[in-house]
Parts: sequence; structure tokens; C-alpha cells
Amino acid sequence: MDPWTELVRFDACPGDPHRPTSTPIYQTATFERPDASCEGGYDYTRSGNPTRTVLEGQLARLEGAAHALAYASGMAAFSGLVRILRAGDHVVAGTDLYGGTHRLLGQVLPRLGIEVTHAPATDPVAFAAAFRPGQTRLALIETPSNPLQEIADIRRLADIAHAGGARLAVDNSLLSPWLQKPLAHGADVVIHSATKFLCGHGDVTGGVLATNDDALAEELAFFRNAEGSALAPFESWLLLRGVKTLGLRVERQQETARRVAHWLASTSAPSAGSRSGPGARGVTRVHYAGLPHHPGHSIHARQAAGPGSVISFETGSVDASRALIAALELFTCAVSFGSITSTVSLPCAMSHASIPEGQRALPADIVRLSIGIEDASDLIADLSGALAAIPRVRMAL
Ligand code: PLP
Repeated sequence: MDPWTELVRFDACPGDPHRPTSTPIYQTATFERPDASCEGGYDYTRSGNPTRTVLEGQLARLEGAAHALAYASGMAAFSGLVRILRAGDHVVAGTDLYGGTHRLLGQVLPRLGIEVTHAPATDPVAFAAAFRPGQTRLALIETPSNPLQEIADIRRLADIAHAGGARLAVDNSLLSPWLQKPLAHGADVVIHSATKFLCGHGDVTGGVLATNDDALAEELAFFRNAEGSALAPFESWLLLRGVKTLGLRVERQQETARRVAHWLASTSAPSAGSRSGPGARGVTRVHYAGLPHHPGHSIHARQAAGPGSVISFETGSVDASRALIAALELFTCAVSFGSITSTVSLPCAMSHASIPEGQRALPADIVRLSIGIEDASDLIADLSGALAAIPRVRMAL
């Protein structure tokens, strides 16, 4: 079935005699049992809920996975995944990762006796060198990464992980399965902050793990039930509703983002994307996989259907970035991305602030945009006005 059709044509209510066309919210904690056992069927929403089951069926279809599990947040999904590790195990993780992922890897896993080495996912040789034979069980990357938009070759890193006896997990939050399906390129697990594009409306926190590995899925489901981290029925319903318009939103947001990114790059003269000193309007470097000069452009084109709608850029100074953010009127200053409304953030002070400064491989002035469904010309006019205001604000500082 064509993906556009798949998004909206599915059994919304398996087994429901009334055949509603929208999935009911089974807002219940418990289910009456035919006898004094919990064998088969639903018994308790922490363990299973029909609304969540329909959502998970859709998420699995979208990722091309045999199994998908929905969690209360992206970080709950990550926590569920690292439960498969034991004390003494080792993880190799990319260098540019969401701040919360860094926190989990750097401040939670060591307490459990699990060591983590960061290595650049853009450099397969360095990534492979970080593996410890017999000890590394999990490799973890984002591609494109947040916020630097670095591109990793999923197939190559999957081969490296498998040769080292580890699984490769890919955080696909920045693109969504509409644009990239990491399992098709050799990844073992896909992770999502469903809070982002899968929801798309900024009104749910959710997370997803998707895999084709039956034994892994069973283990993940065991831990999720044991620890109570599954997505609640109402959130499952909201997410299911959001996913129906995933294609429309992602395509529209990406189209607008391409225009915004090209416009930003055109302001960072003389050579867009290279470090070029302050450009005409204060943009010194643009990070977006959709720009032809992007170092990962060809790898990305091979494994993804588009660059998505998150763009990062540098201004040359933290003060200029803060002034720019303050001067924007349409872009809302907020963490997260993937919503229908455009947002702007300063990752080093916001989403990535939990990474200790010495370990942060990010330019402090980097600004992240998430492009929504507004008109492209309105967004460019807002950026243009704010960039023009920077010198004046600088003088006032
Ligand atoms: N992965 C990425 C790339 C993210 O940006 C985030 C959150 O911003 C997460 C995971 C964590 O997801 P959540 O905030 O839903 O827990």
C-alpha cells in the first residue's frame, strides 16, 4: 500500500462490534476477566491497552518494523532500551546527541556499572576504534544529529556494530519514518521522541522503540511492564491522531525549511556553510543536510528521502544569537522541535544545557530553528528583520 494511504487506512478498532471510524480511547486502568486468571487478552493498562495497541501497529508499519512499543516520553523509550544492558557492558555513542540522551548516558548509566565512550558517528574508523571486543553491546547514534545535523552512514555503522557483537540503535526523531527508515539500512532498533514529528502538535510527550528482533521486543515489553513506562491511553490517542497527518506536515515543513535554509545560507556570504566570518546579516554558518555543501549530503541522500525541517546556524557570538532570538516575533522561543508552529532555541542554554561544558562539542552560539507550517515568506521576513536588528542590539549590550 502507498505510504499516503497507509497513514489513514488501517483498522481503527480491531474487534469493536460498533465499528467506530476513529479509535476509541480506552480510558480504563483494568479490564474485566472471564475467570480468575490474567491469561490472554487485556487485563491492566500498564501491560496493554487497545488504544495503545492500534497506535503501535501504525508506528510499526511506518518504520517497517515487526514491533513498536510506545513509551511515556522519548527518554522513557531510551531508558527502556538501556535496560537490556548489564553492569560491565559498554556503549559506544555518537558525539552530537540530544542533551537528555547525554545525561542518561553520562550520569545514569555509570551508576549502573555501564561505561560509555563517545566517538564521532561521522567517522566510521574512529567509531569502530571505540568498540571494546566482548564488552560493547550497544551503539547509539542520531542522524541527522541534534543540533549539528551531522550525517552518519547507518549501513556502515550497523556493520561495525554487528562485527563487534553489538546492536545499533538510531534515534530517528529529527526526520520521522516519513523521511528515513533506519531498520531498512541495517539498524537493529529505532528510537523516537514521538513528542516531535510523530505527534506534530506539541501537545504530547511520547517515545517509541521499533525493531524487527522478536526476542528483543519481548525483552523490551517485559521491562516496560515491569517499570510502568508505557504511554497512557489518551496520549496514545492524541499521537495516533497526529500520525495520520505526518506526511502532510513533514512535506510542508520540509519544503518551507529548504527555502529558509537556502535563504540563510545566501546571507552567510561569501561561501555558505563554511566558516566565513560574520556575513551580511550575521549568519556565519548554516547546518542543514539539504544544502549541497553539507559534508554528509550524499550519504544522507542515499538513506533518507529528505533533509527534514530542523535547521541550525551560527552567528559568531552568543550575544548576537540571544539578541536574534529576542528579536524574532513569529518564531517561538521554546525547546523541542517538529511541531506545526515554528520555534527557535539556543541549544547550549536550553536542550543541551545538561551536558557539562567541558564535554559539549557544540558552538555556544548555535541557534536551532524548527520550521512549522506557516508561510515561508513570513518566516524569512521574521528572520531578516531580527538579523537586521542584531547590530543595534549588540551596541546596546
Ligand atoms: N531524542 C532527541 C533527538 C530529542 O531531541 C529528544 C528531546 O528533545 C529526545 C530524544 C527525548 O525525547 P523526550 O523529550 O520526548 O523525552
